[in-house]
Amino acid sequence: MAQKDNRILLLNAPRLPLEDAKLEELTGDLHDFAHAHGLVMRLANDKLSSEVCQTTPLTLLPSPFPKNVFEQAVKLQDLYALLYHTIAYDFDFLVDIHKNVVKTDEFIRNMIEILKKVKAQGLKQPITLAIQRSDYMCHKDQASAEYGLKQIEINNIASSMGAHAQRLTEWHIRILKALEVPDDVIKRAIPENKPIPMIAEALFKAWSHFNIPSAWVLVVVENVNQNQIDQRHVEYELEKLGVPMTCIIRRTLTQCYEQLSLNETSDLMIDGRPVAIVYFRAGYSPDHYPTNKEWEARERMELSTAIKTPWIGLQVANTKKTQQVLSEDGVLERFIGKPRDARDIRISFAGMWALENQDDVTLKVVQGAQKHPDAFVLKPQTEGGAALHTGDEMVQMLRELPEEERGAYILMEKLRPMIIENYLVLAKKPVTFAKAVSELGVYGYAFGAKDAPELKTAGHLLRTKPETTAMGGVAAGHAVVDTPFLYEFI
Ligand code: ADP
Ligand code: MG
Repeated sequence: MAQKDNRILLLNAPRLPLEDAKLEELTGDLHDFAHAHGLVMRLANDKLSSEVCQTTPLTLLPSPFPKNVFEQAVKLQDLYALLYHTIAYDFDFLVDIHKNVVKTDEFIRNMIEILKKVKAQGLKQPITLAIQRSDYMCHKDQASAEYGLKQIEINNIASSMGAHAQRLTEWHIRILKALEVPDDVIKRAIPENKPIPMIAEALFKAWSHFNIPSAWVLVVVENVNQNQIDQRHVEYELEKLGVPMTCIIRRTLTQCYEQLSLNETSDLMIDGRPVAIVYFRAGYSPDHYPTNKEWEARERMELSTAIKTPWIGLQVANTKKTQQVLSEDGVLERFIGKPRDARDIRISFAGMWALENQDDVTLKVVQGAQKHPDAFVLKPQTEGGAALHTGDEMVQMLRELPEEERGAYILMEKLRPMIIENYLVLAKKPVTFAKAVSELGVYGYAFGAKDAPELKTAGHLLRTKPETTAMGGVAAGHAVVDTPFLYEFI
């Protein structure tokens, strides 16, 4: 029975490539749908205004993705949310594992300084909120040729693209219908995808917990943001839940420095009203802190009663360094009580190595990376899809990195994602039919005090990029938004 059903699923995926006339018709339809549903971005050369927007970079069709690997990622999300929620409260661990990173990484150094002050003063707000997206690739193991789930990174701050992904799922259901894929197949192959109601629910819970009807939801934003509309959908959903639009404000960190103050009871005040939640959609990149003023603003927020998403502990826990240290023997297991849960998480770890030590293992792995550059990537602590060192550049960096800078990088096994084919649709460019690879993200939250937070998982994002592109990131221009078409192996 299962065998038969599986075959139906595969046979009913659309046959590619599509005929030219059909492709043109469907692409035109997609652009209409995108604009009608707010699946749009600002123009690259006019990022300050939403007056004229363009279709978000998208795939025309959903991309095949193994069902068991997808389900594994969804199952893991609550565990990851709990793991990072827990690590965030372990000040000493976080300070210790970043001791070499801070030698040369000023951004992490500033974060750690604030973390230390928060520890010294005690948490003014014991309730925290992690809105998270964990990213993975469906990696083909070279030895066994089996596909498995491997984590790329975790995002504890400014997890984006959920609104686009949610809307694109609606489109992908629509196009499968147009291509006469039977309804029952669509139902099984396209999982429900509603990250935005979940994110709004998390924010609403935090705002309600603060329990002052006039308190603000402060959305911290970049000076310029091409992906404004994706963020706005979260706010609109939050309004539907009952936060008045007059309680939601968007401010840059520079404006926060100018307008925010702490009162005698450590409430974060703006325009005479307290801030219930600081929702960071910026603050993850050194660019967002051009001067000390922005750091001062961040410190004020962290020393306040506002619920931060994320709070500084959770953001420090977000580094690639934390991810690498967790993969070392026995470290993850310190934070996850149940051995079976720890095992399930550990299965999703790719190989990761620190560079700062001069022991045999490090020397061997560095030699290995220099000899086989195709099997490794080198990552700094930067967030936002801007810095991944591969190939010759990585080899050169491994040779030339000064001793004191080595701690700021991690070396990671290069994942080999499943190669699929799909149409990539970019505004004002010819549609391309490309061999491509995908990265799956699963959204979730952890809300509450240190012990026993509420956990929830809902919604996902697939980002797809040409097989030959090393970096990721839709906003960075490397990838396009996609959704999975789940199939089972037969
Ligand atoms: P960022 O914080 O900049 O988003 P990521 O760890 O997500 O950092 O890396 C950026 C992109 O680089 C990913 O989206 C992915 O496409 C690619 N990448 C990262 N790590 C690996 C890896 N181990 N193997 C293959 N590609 C990777
Ligand atoms: Mg990333």
